[in-house]
Amino acid sequence: MSMFCNQCEQAANGTGCNISGVCGKKPDVAALQDHLLYGLKSLALYADKIGRNAEIDRFTIEGLFTTVTNVDFDPANIGGVIKRCYELKEKAKASYGSSIPGPVADWKPADDLAGMVAQGEQHGINTLHDNEDIRSVIEILMYGLKGMAAYMDHAMILGRSDDEVMAFFQKALAATTDANLGLMDFVGLAMECGKQNLTVMGLLNAAHTDTYGHPVPTPVQLGTKAGKAILVSGHDLKMLEEILKQTEGKGINIYTHGEMLPAHGYPGLKKYSHLVGNFGGAWQDQAQEFPSFPGAIVFNTNCIQRPAESYTDRLFTWGLVQWPGVKHIGGWDFSEVIKKALECPSLPENPGQEILTGFGHNAVLGVADKVIAAVKSGAIKHFFLVGGCDGAKSGRNYYTEFAEKAPKDTVILTLACGKYRFNKLEFGDIGGIPRLLDIGQCNDAYSAIQIAVALAGAFECGVNDLPLSMILSWYEQKAVVILLTLLHLGIKNIKLGPTLPAFITPNVLNFLVENFNIGPITTAEADLKAILG
Ligand code: SF4
Ligand code: SF4
Repeated sequence: MSMFCNQCEQAANGTGCNISGVCGKKPDVAALQDHLLYGLKSLALYADKIGRNAEIDRFTIEGLFTTVTNVDFDPANIGGVIKRCYELKEKAKASYGSSIPGPVADWKPADDLAGMVAQGEQHGINTLHDNEDIRSVIEILMYGLKGMAAYMDHAMILGRSDDEVMAFFQKALAATTDANLGLMDFVGLAMECGKQNLTVMGLLNAAHTDTYGHPVPTPVQLGTKAGKAILVSGHDLKMLEEILKQTEGKGINIYTHGEMLPAHGYPGLKKYSHLVGNFGGAWQDQAQEFPSFPGAIVFNTNCIQRPAESYTDRLFTWGLVQWPGVKHIGGWDFSEVIKKALECPSLPENPGQEILTGFGHNAVLGVADKVIAAVKSGAIKHFFLVGGCDGAKSGRNYYTEFAEKAPKDTVILTLACGKYRFNKLEFGDIGGIPRLLDIGQCNDAYSAIQIAVALAGAFECGVNDLPLSMILSWYEQKAVVILLTLLHLGIKNIKLGPTLPAFITPNVLNFLVENFNIGPITTAEADLKAILG
């Protein structure tokens, strides 16, 4: 059995994984994910006609998120999702009252998993379109939809939704099956995806800040405290809150991992005294770091890797993330995780370094006068947004070097797990303004945009005219949709690395260069020189 997947930065040989995924995805899972996407398009053909249906829209979001890199590696679970997709498609069809002609609308999955895998093999990326440039833009759109679905899922968990965004999901999925659409139609849809994602990131930001308050600058302990412990990895704040509530008074300390680090800045979460610190670095180091965390560990979203045997028995997944053989928590009852944490050995008292997080737009704009005065006086010469997804491939030391070599009169804004490349380094401050400002998770790109727009307003210029450069690292599909949002906002001169996506053809890259002057990173020295002159 073979496969082909090129949706993330780890794509084998810079082209695509065709034997087995570098991420650990097996060919059967790849085929089932392709099958699920085909089913979601079939469902969308009807959903686009019948208008808003909360059950179908919620399913579409979860279905897309299931296919994001490092989320669901469990074939049996994906098979169940495909069956549910078919049930909903039939329901939508009944609601529409007639049949849409064509093979996509006619889709029906096989009864058994092997049959579903065989069907999925017929619906791989290469079947998206005969023209490679159109296929490239359809892939950009599909990955943008997946990334946007991930953010929408978190927003929906906190009770938010948006009819216009949901209508776009169904319209765009349906459009990918329309043979009459051309290159510029899909370019337009990809740009619209960026626009809709700005709404989604805004929804999620409001959901987070309305529920937990605006993040405030907060020191986070990187060492350990004596006692039983649970480590929470992923992005979902609501799930962390539930763990905090259910462990209150039980003598269990809670640590964040990876993209959960910014949780420490939210007043509604930092109020729990047993939220004691952050353990480890970015996702790709989990297999090296988790063996030395003796407590229970829970993944609430990506990015999970194949677990080492040494910690599989104390590892749990929650929500959409699944790994075969790892205990999955299906709802909001974490008593099994708590029981495991109490059975596990305690962590030692081992105080460590403290780092700062919590510089969302509210905190940064709260000292806007100071920041603007520092720019006007020349104390701050330039801002760099250095962030995005981290990853395992070589070439990412660039981001450490870039941050280290950025002149002392520059400020670095950072977000997402790419920050772990340099967030333990000492950067000092400029007149009391820390030189390294951790804005938050990848979805907090929304905060970065708010800061940039506010600065542009203060200096009466456009965002592209600010002394601000974006040096982004990408890994998976959330980074794709954030890039689409930045392009939708007309932001130019973005530097992207460590390598460009395998799914972008030379012609599509030329289009991006001509219209947005987007370019690959080179070396830290050369890029700094080019930016600062
Ligand atoms: S998600 Fe990335 S690493 Fe995994 S199979 Fe696809 S391209 Fe390869
Ligand atoms: S920012 Fe991207 S790479 Fe990092 S943990 Fe989140 S999804 Fe994974």
